[in-house]
Amino acid sequence: MSTDYVLQTTDLVKEFKGFTAVDDVSLNIERGSIHALIGPNGAGKTTVFNLLTKFLSPTRGRILYNGRDITAMKPASVARLGLIRSFQISAVFPHLTVLENVRIALQRKESNSFHFWRSEKVLEPLNAKALELLDQVGLAEFARTTTVDLSYGRKRALEIATTLALDPELMLLDEPTQGMGHEDVDVVAALIKKVSANRTILMVEHNLHVVSRLADRITVLQRGAVLTEGDYDTVSADPRVKEAYLGV
Ligand code: ADP
Repeated sequence: MSTDYVLQTTDLVKEFKGFTAVDDVSLNIERGSIHALIGPNGAGKTTVFNLLTKFLSPTRGRILYNGRDITAMKPASVARLGLIRSFQISAVFPHLTVLENVRIALQRKESNSFHFWRSEKVLEPLNAKALELLDQVGLAEFARTTTVDLSYGRKRALEIATTLALDPELMLLDEPTQGMGHEDVDVVAALIKKVSANRTILMVEHNLHVVSRLADRITVLQRGAVLTEGDYDTVSADPRVKEAYLGV
């Protein structure tokens, strides 16, 4: 049986003025999986994300999305194909309500623009869809809350809702539990699991407990290159991974 990959990179390289930040990275992201990209600071994780979303162009190598070469594409075109990065792209407006933020994301998806001042009647179907998304992420009761008043964990849940509004096929999550206390970490981890049911997720995550709980497959980067890859048990038992994390 052949494996179905939603995203593949071949020998991806990114050099910054002679410094190799990403060094021959080949990734195979299986459709429907949760794939984690881990590694110590400076390993190249953010640069890989920037290459995949086309915020940066690779020095060498290729990126295939559903078998199509997207190496030379623009960020907006890649996002339209369904490869969407959460948090950076979907930054929420703090002084709008939770519902308004999701509605704006839905309008963006439909028309690449939004019309905040349209009459409520016109907006009604969008409100219904927005409420459905808020329900999915456990925020329905906060629909009318001003975003700035949400707790940190709930803001992240809202960011996931605004990303879902764009209907991603491959969702890139950049440190989704960063800076959170235990309770919020658990809520967001459960949410990621839930939204992964009908899409693929590639995430950079420092919390190894979250990685062990969620990731089907893990790629460990070190100094820009792939150190090892496998499921959590395989990767965590690898002495080179322990070394990389302890920095010895
Ligand atoms: P990580 O996300 O794993 O912490 P990064 O991808 O941010 O790692 O960085 C990898 C390496 O590339 C680091 O040494 C960083 O200093 C370097 N780097 C990242 N962006 C740039 C840039 N725009 N110019 C020069 N060096 C960069």
